[in-house]
Amino acid sequence: MKVLVIGGGAREHALCRSLSQDPSVTELHCAPGNAGIAGVATVHPVDQLDGAQVAELAVRLGTDLVVVGPEAPLVAGVADAVRAAGIPVFGPSGAAAQLEGSKAFAKDVMAGAGVPTARSYVCTTPEEAAAALDAFGAPYVVKDDGLAAGKGVVVTSDREAALAHAAACERVVIEEYLDGPEVSLFAITDGTTVLPLQPAQDFKRALDGDEGPNTGGMGAYSPLPWAPDGLVEEVLDTVLQPTVDELRRRGTEFSGLLYAGLALTSRGTRVIEFNARFGDPETQVVLARLRTPLAGVLLASATGALDQLEPLRWDEGAAVTVVIASEGYPAAPRTGDPIEGLAEAEADGTAFVLHAGTKADEDGRVLSAGGRVLSVTATGADLAEARDRAYAAVDRISLKGGQHRTDIALKAATA
Ligand code: AMP
Repeated sequence: MKVLVIGGGAREHALCRSLSQDPSVTELHCAPGNAGIAGVATVHPVDQLDGAQVAELAVRLGTDLVVVGPEAPLVAGVADAVRAAGIPVFGPSGAAAQLEGSKAFAKDVMAGAGVPTARSYVCTTPEEAAAALDAFGAPYVVKDDGLAAGKGVVVTSDREAALAHAAACERVVIEEYLDGPEVSLFAITDGTTVLPLQPAQDFKRALDGDEGPNTGGMGAYSPLPWAPDGLVEEVLDTVLQPTVDELRRRGTEFSGLLYAGLALTSRGTRVIEFNARFGDPETQVVLARLRTPLAGVLLASATGALDQLEPLRWDEGAAVTVVIASEGYPAAPRTGDPIEGLAEAEADGTAFVLHAGTKADEDGRVLSAGGRVLSVTATGADLAEARDRAYAAVDRISLKGGQHRTDIALKAATA
C-alpha cells in the first residue's frame, strides 16, 4: 500500500511512525511533513490547504490511501478533492468536518442526536452574550464559533473578560461550565460502524498544576487508571454512535476520526467538544499502544469496511508524551533555535522523539520552527515507568528557552 499523510506536526509524525512499522505499507509519503517525518517518509512541499495540489500529488504518486491529519485541510475540503480523484481518504468531507469547524453546528447535531453536552446559546451581539452569561453565571465559558487552533475558548470568572472575548469574535457559543475530569476518546468510523480507541487525557494549560494560558496541548497519557469501568462502551452508545448516525441521517456522512472531548461531571458524562481528526498530543500515546497495524484500520474507514475488521489489539502497558515548546509559547513563540540531544534521547530505546515544529537547515541541523517543537514519547509497563522514561529523554534534549511541564501523568501515575 502506498500511503500519503497530510500535515506536518507531531500527530502526523506519530501517524507516519506507526504506518512505517506496518508491513503492508510499501511507500510512505507526507506533505508537507517536518524534519522528523523526513526520517520515516518522503516529504513533499505542498500547500496542505489546497485540495487540488494534494489530489494532484496523490494521483502522481499512485497513492492507495490518503490520511489527512489536521482540521484546517479537512474543513477546507481537501478530503473531498482527493475522493473526487478516486483515491480512498481517511478523513471527513468538508461538510462533515463542520462538526469541528463550527461549534454551533456541533451543538445542533448533538441536540438532534440526543447527545449529552453543556446547555448553550449561540450569540452574535453584545446584548445576547451578556444575557447568556447571566443565565449561566460564573465560571463563564465563551467559545469562538469557528476554528481557532485551540485558542478560541475562554473559561473565566471575570465577566468583563468573558464579554470582551465574545465581542472579539463574530459569533460565539456561550455555555454552562462543566466540572470534573476530562477524557479524550477517539473513534474510527466509516460513516456507519464506529470503532472506539483507548481513552487518553491531555494537558491544555501551559504550566504545571494546570496554570497559565491554554495551549494546543502540553502532554498526554493513556490509559486512564482512574476512569470508571465501562466508560468506552457508555460513550460509544450515548455519544459516538448516535452522532455518526445523526450525521448520516442529515446527508453529511462522517468518516474518519471522531474525537469526543468529554467531561466526567457529577451529573454524568458530557461532551465538551467534537473534533474531526486525531487529537494532538493524545494521538502520540494512543498510537504508541495500538498493536494492530494502522494502515489497514485507516483504509477500512476510507472504504466503508470497518465492520469486517478484527477487534483492535492493544498494548497492556502505558504511554506518556511530554511536549517541549519554544520560548514564549503560546503567546509569541520564538523559532529558529538549534535542538541538541535528539539521538541521545532515543539512544537506550525506551523513548522516541516525535517532531512537531522543526525544520532542517542547510547543514542538516534540526531547528525549532513552531510553538510546539517536540513530543517526547515513551511506553512502559505502567504510567510511572512510561513517565520516567519520557522525562529521562526530555532531560537529554536541549533547546534554548525550551519549556515543558513536569507534571504530565503525575497524578494518575501516583494515585
Ligand atoms: P475546547 O476547544 O472546546 O476543547 O475547549 C478547550 C478547553 O476549555 C477544554 O479542554 C476545557 O478544559 C475547557 N472547556 C471548554 N468547554 C468547557 C465547559 N463547558 N466547561 C468547562 N470547561 C470547558
